[in-house]
Amino acid sequence: MCGARVTPSQRISGLSTAIGRHIQSGIPTMLTGVAKEKSWASSEAARHSMQANRSRDTEPELQVRHELFRHGLRYRVAYRALPHSLRTVDIAFPGQRIAVLIDGCFWHSCPDHLRTPSTHADFWATKLEATKRRDQETSQMLAANGWLVLRFWEHEDPIEVSRRIEQAVAEAKTPIDPSKTVRPNP
Ligand SMILES: [Zn+2]
Repeated sequence: MCGARVTPSQRISGLSTAIGRHIQSGIPTMLTGVAKEKSWASSEAARHSMQANRSRDTEPELQVRHELFRHGLRYRVAYRALPHSLRTVDIAFPGQRIAVLIDGCFWHSCPDHLRTPSTHADFWATKLEATKRRDQETSQMLAANGWLVLRFWEHEDPIEVSRRIEQAVAEAKTPIDPSKTVRPNP
């Protein structure tokens, strides 16, 4: 597959450095209002750093995808499941309307592994809290659009995760019992 894989921890340390640079330039003092945050994010480099928290092709996600593929499942990657939204689903089964999200332990505040960085702690707390709210909102929007949302942590066993996904897909594929269908009026 791809040559140089970036582990989540490498990515975080890279981002931390990038964001640290912005912090050192005194920019976080602007992070108080939406309009101000917008102007801050208008710096192209910063915007890309911030968007990286829903990155594709992380190692745990690749392992799950590999396992699903090996079992004959076909899916879409980084799929835009919501109309008028750029938010993507890591692994999507559009036919069954199943949305799989594999959340990084750091960015998505896994209760087992979250370590808020001690430097720029306030900045990180605000940032991570916003990501959490965004995750909840995404799940709600997906559900409102008829998607079954399956969220996993990156620390979970990829084999176990893929089994649970396969099960959900298989259940969604179960033919509808004809005796339970409503017949249209003649
Ligand atoms: Zn974790």
